[in-house]
Amino acid sequence: SRAPLSSLDLGRCVQHLFNLHLLFSMAVSHRLFRLQSPAKNILSSFFIRSLPSSYSSSSGPTLDPEIDLEEAAAQLEKSSSSSSSPSPSESKGRNFHWVFLGCPGVGKGTYASRLSTLLGVPHIATGDLVREELSSSSLLSSQLKELVNHGKLVPDEFIISLLSKRLEAGKEKGESGYILDGFPRTVTQAEILEGVTNIDLVINLKLREEALLAKCLGRRICSECGANYNVACIDIKGGDDDASPRMYMPPLLPPKSCESKLITRADDTEEVVKERLKIYNKMTQPVEEFYRKRGKLLEFDLPGGIPQSWPRLLRALHLEDLDDKQSAIA
Ligand code: ADP
Repeated sequence: SRAPLSSLDLGRCVQHLFNLHLLFSMAVSHRLFRLQSPAKNILSSFFIRSLPSSYSSSSGPTLDPEIDLEEAAAQLEKSSSSSSSPSPSESKGRNFHWVFLGCPGVGKGTYASRLSTLLGVPHIATGDLVREELSSSSLLSSQLKELVNHGKLVPDEFIISLLSKRLEAGKEKGESGYILDGFPRTVTQAEILEGVTNIDLVINLKLREEALLAKCLGRRICSECGANYNVACIDIKGGDDDASPRMYMPPLLPPKSCESKLITRADDTEEVVKERLKIYNKMTQPVEEFYRKRGKLLEFDLPGGIPQSWPRLLRALHLEDLDDKQSAIA
């Protein structure tokens, strides 16, 4: 005789139905995975086929083999190949393919965007791409909102497609090189990225855990110009030993012109930030190891706010001369 359905089984059934529903709507409403010309590159097909079967989507949805990672990866490979005309970054002599890793609230966006200005390569934040997608009123966006607003990752296939579209658009404008922020966030994403392009440096930003939650809760964004501010004043007392000195991060307050237009991200609530941190530790920390093993990881402990951290980061990247030259020009 059959055992009665446990609540765990029931939960799995509901989750499975939700996943199927989500993927079906993604495919139908966006035709996201029916990529323009599925001229699959042999190399990437081989590469994806060689992924262990445990590499299913990270954030829950089990994918229909018809809507697979392989197509998303082929699209990424196509959009990652260089454009024929030299881009401004190439004309500067270097073509950067850098990645920023780090927990929510660590400041990936802040430092990636500063470096992007300094080096003349685009800063591509997958979180921004997801939020853009959410701002549309499609069925897909309301379903994705469910995931994002609960601190979950969106499916690998979806994020890879979004990134490919962004890279393709950049290629048409003559962009090449990038500083990726928020991608890859799972080992599957890292494997796929590594299979289609050569990432030359991964900067792993680290900040004391006590500061991360406070920074997320204090984050404010100008709804008009998109600038990021922080109203939190973080002052963590130092320990008796040298290993944990005092950490002071003053608020980064908005100018008068932005003051009345500040908004908070829907996923910057205490409960959701804690979930995002948990997911980071489970899904993204293995990505650090992935790059460490390949000798690409630069660990950088943020000593405090921007005034303290920026010059040290530049020194770690051997870019301080470039910053001096730019400051002299400005
Ligand atoms: P965080 O402050 O957590 O680093 P982001 O702005 O980078 O936030 O991302 C916001 C949300 O967008 C994430 O919580 C996740 O739902 C989704 N997201 C962004 N990048 C990825 C990715 N590479 N893979 C899966 N989901 C992603």
